[in-house]
Amino acid sequence: MPQPDLLQRSLAAVWHPCTQMKRHETLPPVAIAHGEGAWLIDADGHRLLDGISSWWVNLFGHCNPRINAALREQLDTLEHVLLAGFTHEPVVALSERLAALTGQRLGHAFYASDGASATEIALKMSAHYWRNHGQPGKHRFVSLAGGYHGETVGALAVTDVPIFRDAYADLVKPGATVPCPDARLAAPGETPADVARRAAAALEAHLAEHHDETAALIVEPLVQGAAGMVMYDPEYLRLARALCERYRVHLVADEIAVGCGRTGSFFACEQAGVWPDFLCLSKGISGGYLPLSLVLSTDEVYAAFYADDAARGFLHSHSYTGNPLACRAALATLEIFAEEDVLAANQERAVLLHRAMEEHFGNHPAARHLRSRGMILAFDVAGAGADFGRRFFAAALAHGVLLRPIGNTVYFMPPYIVDEAETAHLMRGARAALDAALA
Ligand SMILES: *Cc1c(COP(=O)(O)O)cnc(C)c1O
Repeated sequence: MPQPDLLQRSLAAVWHPCTQMKRHETLPPVAIAHGEGAWLIDADGHRLLDGISSWWVNLFGHCNPRINAALREQLDTLEHVLLAGFTHEPVVALSERLAALTGQRLGHAFYASDGASATEIALKMSAHYWRNHGQPGKHRFVSLAGGYHGETVGALAVTDVPIFRDAYADLVKPGATVPCPDARLAAPGETPADVARRAAAALEAHLAEHHDETAALIVEPLVQGAAGMVMYDPEYLRLARALCERYRVHLVADEIAVGCGRTGSFFACEQAGVWPDFLCLSKGISGGYLPLSLVLSTDEVYAAFYADDAARGFLHSHSYTGNPLACRAALATLEIFAEEDVLAANQERAVLLHRAMEEHFGNHPAARHLRSRGMILAFDVAGAGADFGRRFFAAALAHGVLLRPIGNTVYFMPPYIVDEAETAHLMRGARAALDAALA
């Protein structure tokens, strides 16, 4: 019986993320032995459908044959080389492909490893841009209520999730928070676009007063993930883009969770027809294989750093910046997008998923605000009670489904390969878990 032993060893030696470790006394971690498509399999052969793409990173399934083959080849070619003073085929090809996906609007890719590092880079680049332009006073940031941009100390300045921020409040130089255009805030007779206009008016009031000290507005386009899959109308992005233009403030699109096709278009911003000054990607970009993040920026931003003076350059770095294996996994991921017309297939898949959610929860007495945007689906649970998330999670495990509610919001973010049978399994498991967690 290797599994109980592995759990003991894990609890003794591994400090798990986002976890009060004492809670593992009653609900131990799940030991996964291998992965296969949309499924995670434990040592005893129990199969779990990965309904959240292993924290929103896995796009084309576990142990995807194409990505595996690309990585094997890369492994025997070049595993890593520093990117300062050196370059290599995977990082160049990936940067070119990403630039092409933005229509060459965001043609300069700066690399890091985790999402939070991409946030840090975008914020630093924005403030440094204004400094290089002789406006060093523009170094403050604005973000949306409930926004999440990572948990390093700099990223926490623009992350408005109390449980992640409160204990470290004294370490953080807080930014300003403006209202979120959450479509659920619509008054009777109001449309989501009306809510967006109301929130944009509040942003305008803030920028009118503070633009002299503001470097950038950072948003999660269309869906605020960690806030509990809060969805809003694309109109907000159009208005925010225009306001940023008018008040000379950068727009940073944190597409770490919503990019890579998650909301239906490759970049979520495309649905609003706007482009940011900085676009952050991570999570799905490597297919969920390896830590990789990046910030795309414009010619104009790039030019502000291009000079004889070293100090005008962007001297930020991480040891694994542009790691060839991670870039190769990302290239294989983008090849799947290009060759299998993933966005079109996902349109149908998203319709099936939404229909199945409606079927299982549309008339459930506790389910509220059923919503979806592409391959993100969610609903809120009335009367969820304390510790709902943990109870739901445990009940879902017993039904062969991996789901982790955020607060009282149940959400689905499956890999882009779930078929009809898997969709039915996912929703049936979720329904059984909801009834168990409310019992
Ligand atoms: C996950 C996430 C991050 C942080 O990424 P990490 O890799 O966990 O540091 C930042 N922004 C958004 C929108 C995210 O969902």
